[in-house]
Amino acid sequence: MANYNDLAELIFPDIKETVEDLEKRYPKRNLPEGAMVTRFAPSPTGFLHTGSLFTSLVSSRFAKQSGGVFYIRLEDTDTKREIEGSGASLVTQLKKFGVILDEGYVSDSEEIGSYGPYKQSNRADIYKVCIKHLIKIGRAYPCFATQEELAELRRVQEANKEIPGYYGKYAKYRNLPIDEAIAKIKNGDSYIIRFKSMGDHNNKIAVHDEIKGDLELTENDQDIVILKGDGLPTYHFAHLVDDHFMRTTHVTRGEEWLSSLPIHLELFDTMGFERPKYAHLPVIMKVENGNRRKLSKRKDPEAATAFFLEQGYPKYGFIEYLLTLANSNYEAWREQNLDKDYFDFKLSFDKMGVDGALFDIEKVESISKERMAYRKAADLCEEVLAWANEYNKDFEKLILNDKKFFTEILNIEREKDKPRKDYAKYSDIYPIISFFFDSVYNDLDMSNLDYTVMVNKNEVKEVPHDIIKAFLNDYMASYNVDVTEEEWFENLKALALKYNFTSDRKAYKANPNDFNGQAGDCAGFIRLALAARKNTPNIYFVQRILGKNKVFERINRLINNL
Ligand code: GLU
Repeated sequence: MANYNDLAELIFPDIKETVEDLEKRYPKRNLPEGAMVTRFAPSPTGFLHTGSLFTSLVSSRFAKQSGGVFYIRLEDTDTKREIEGSGASLVTQLKKFGVILDEGYVSDSEEIGSYGPYKQSNRADIYKVCIKHLIKIGRAYPCFATQEELAELRRVQEANKEIPGYYGKYAKYRNLPIDEAIAKIKNGDSYIIRFKSMGDHNNKIAVHDEIKGDLELTENDQDIVILKGDGLPTYHFAHLVDDHFMRTTHVTRGEEWLSSLPIHLELFDTMGFERPKYAHLPVIMKVENGNRRKLSKRKDPEAATAFFLEQGYPKYGFIEYLLTLANSNYEAWREQNLDKDYFDFKLSFDKMGVDGALFDIEKVESISKERMAYRKAADLCEEVLAWANEYNKDFEKLILNDKKFFTEILNIEREKDKPRKDYAKYSDIYPIISFFFDSVYNDLDMSNLDYTVMVNKNEVKEVPHDIIKAFLNDYMASYNVDVTEEEWFENLKALALKYNFTSDRKAYKANPNDFNGQAGDCAGFIRLALAARKNTPNIYFVQRILGKNKVFERINRLINNL
């Protein structure tokens, strides 16, 4: 009579290594006490999801802040879903957001570290060593169930209102005599390998999650597939083998995996491997019509990190936002530590939300605005250039044409105590400042400008054009921006008064019809001349940057249109 050993040798004749050999090949890491080994394990199925960036960011921070190792493993065992080349592009994108691996998969031709290969399809033999071991100890077996048999099983379970799946009395091939299994294999019958569970779904097991704390989950009793027909393992089995032999200390992954934890724990225990610690991270959600749902690839552009790159949200704004999602005390820390790098913040599991994190684009905007305002103009210029190089070539050309000019524009009301917060993303800049460039300004339509001023909250009135003309001519005659902003504005007010625009708010409010408007309206006419619109960055600085000649050219152009 054949035994488990014979079965294992028949199935894996070429696998000579043992689990002990693997233990030696991938020894325990020599790291200081408390150093965490974490990983990000994406499947190469396309783009980088915002939720994946969040998970990888959190995983990498825990490793780095503890002096440990953060590695990337490519989980490409689902060959049907694979998109060519997306593995390497995931790594490149992560890098753009500052999530940088210490070790692991970089591209199909590059890996770092000695715990590899880091691409699962290159690890087939490693999985087989462990499966061979499980067969030898009677805890894994070939299953010959056909699609029809499995469909029939589902039908019976549904009819009997039983838990679906392949387990216990429903696990038809679980107790197939070894001789019969061997005969079937020799006969060429197709099969996959299943784990033989010893669990019982009537039992509860106590588990601990670093974020969610102590939990009770239903014990696993499913004889899950561990090796598929294509010779590659399923997620569950690859997780066991890889996280063990890559010596992961903390499995930080999305909470959709929490329900599989009992399977994983049974696998670890059966192999005699030490269990890693688990931290199931909140999933990023969105509120729609009052209901929460996961950020969806199909419905939400912001589900793809590419969206934030294209729009030009600064990395430091977006990452900081994700840190606020990760830890509830991040914002308070930031307020106390304005000068520090966001990566100086120490993440902790106990400050992590246990319910899904709600995605809030307005908050991304406000954090980005806040952070971008404090960038030095020269640094921001380089950031905008790098973005424009990829996403707005015309803008890039304009900047490169005169970088100093562009930096001066960026520096309007920047590099001071309370800088202006105009831009949340690089793509906000061009629409606000494009009028500075002659090539843009010259194409602006000046024929239909709005020459009205406010009378009160509900009413506006058109200022007679000859008054505007006279004011602007006079303004040019006494033009002087080589004084302080305050002096310039005082002069403007004096001139405005001459044309019956008051700077006495109360008087205007009481009797608006006694005046042509308020002094600020006169600054508005200068804006209209220089930019063909009423809102511009601080007009005093705009004039200083444009220079007298251009300012006059533009004012004259407006006058000719009046
Ligand atoms: N490949 C799995 C996924 O993309 C990884 C889960 C894990 O981190 O273990 O969801």
